[in-house]
Amino acid sequence: MPAYKTPSRTTRSRDYFARSSEIIPSGVNSTARAVWSGWDPYPLFVDRGTGSHIFDVDGNEYIDYLLGLGPMILGHRPQKITEAVVDFIQNRGTVFAMPAAEEITLSEKIIAAVPAIEQVRLCNTGTEAVLYAVRLARAFTGRKKLIRFEGMYHGFSDGVYWSKHPTIETAGPDKAPKAIPQGPGMPAGLDDSLVILPWNDVEALRDAIAREGHNIAAVITEAVMCNTGCILPEPGYLEAMRDLTAKAGIILICDEVITGFRLSLGGAQGYYGLQPDLSTFAKGLGGGFPVAALGGRKDIMALVADGTVSMAGTYAANGIAVTAANATLDHLATPGLYDTLYGRCQKLFDGLAKVIADNDIPAYVTGVGPVMQLWFADQPIRNYRDAARHARHDVFRTWWEEMLDRGVLFHPGAFENLFISFAHTDDDIAQTVAIAGEAMRAVKA
Ligand code: PLP
Repeated sequence: MPAYKTPSRTTRSRDYFARSSEIIPSGVNSTARAVWSGWDPYPLFVDRGTGSHIFDVDGNEYIDYLLGLGPMILGHRPQKITEAVVDFIQNRGTVFAMPAAEEITLSEKIIAAVPAIEQVRLCNTGTEAVLYAVRLARAFTGRKKLIRFEGMYHGFSDGVYWSKHPTIETAGPDKAPKAIPQGPGMPAGLDDSLVILPWNDVEALRDAIAREGHNIAAVITEAVMCNTGCILPEPGYLEAMRDLTAKAGIILICDEVITGFRLSLGGAQGYYGLQPDLSTFAKGLGGGFPVAALGGRKDIMALVADGTVSMAGTYAANGIAVTAANATLDHLATPGLYDTLYGRCQKLFDGLAKVIADNDIPAYVTGVGPVMQLWFADQPIRNYRDAARHARHDVFRTWWEEMLDRGVLFHPGAFENLFISFAHTDDDIAQTVAIAGEAMRAVKA
């Protein structure tokens, strides 16, 4: 099936991709943009974004639900953030590798927004924040193993880039998946430091902790599974996870790289009332600029405080990142902002659900507020194996093409998400729902 219904409208992207493929391995600078991640036969090259819309190099305009894979929580080029950053660069600088007062105000804002955070350290990417969180948990507990859930993504560092999208036929039993590396090149023996479990399964977690809890330093999870489409926690699951880990002295790491400052100002943990020991943030924090954070209990962070666990980085808390994050959090603290956003998201959710029902297609829409996905499946999906078995990627692909052709952009992979920003308008949502109606009729045909 051709990826672009009207390839003649994307010839510049095609030509750029031919050039870039000669000198950039895979033609792009991240796996999520690669042809095999869904962008076949070539990714669209972007010219610019403004608010909730982006324009490709051929001049096509799209309502953007990709949002740079999440960071553009305020839309593209949000005025206040851009102005703050430009002002900082012009009048202050960029990187000093010495502390600046704004780091304190930013940390105070993060601590005020997220109740479980007593202390916080800044870094640059979600991958870094997770790497530090896991290292810290191991240092604090003196234990070796990490429980992570099949199908989740916690960045690309060696210790966690496992069992993201394994082929389930070779990944062991449903209740006790094998640790499958993303690919070759991982140091030997790392699989021995991992326990892979199915998500949304209290029994599997309870059994694993009963079996080898004394060896387990941490459980790392998203509160909403956002890297296998969008899968919500079943009632009681997060509470049980908190309870079981606390009783066994296991550090609970909540990976809020996607959900942080998005599901609420307090992230997914604020939304669900979860109290993790450590939390990682990135994307939403910087309003489009690279900045991340690791925060949590003071007694655990004490190992960073006294230098036992080193968190380093030339660019950590650089002026641009801190300024962007300060401006973003100031904006996100505007009273009523999230209520308005949730109202808009509900309209999209309801509109898509109606389009599915009208066309009598085996599909459903799922999500929390500004993160959602549409599953083309005839049964509910509650973990990675369900998704691997039941999600119809071929139908999703047609849906994606039909939407894109009509000017609505999101990631071509069914295991990704649609993100709604604070810049999306009622008009964007109404247009998207109308377009979805046409696209779904085409999918059905
Ligand atoms: N954790 C989660 C849940 C993510 O979704 C991602 C990236 O998508 C990461 C960690 C890694 O973040 P980054 O891409 O900033 O390194």
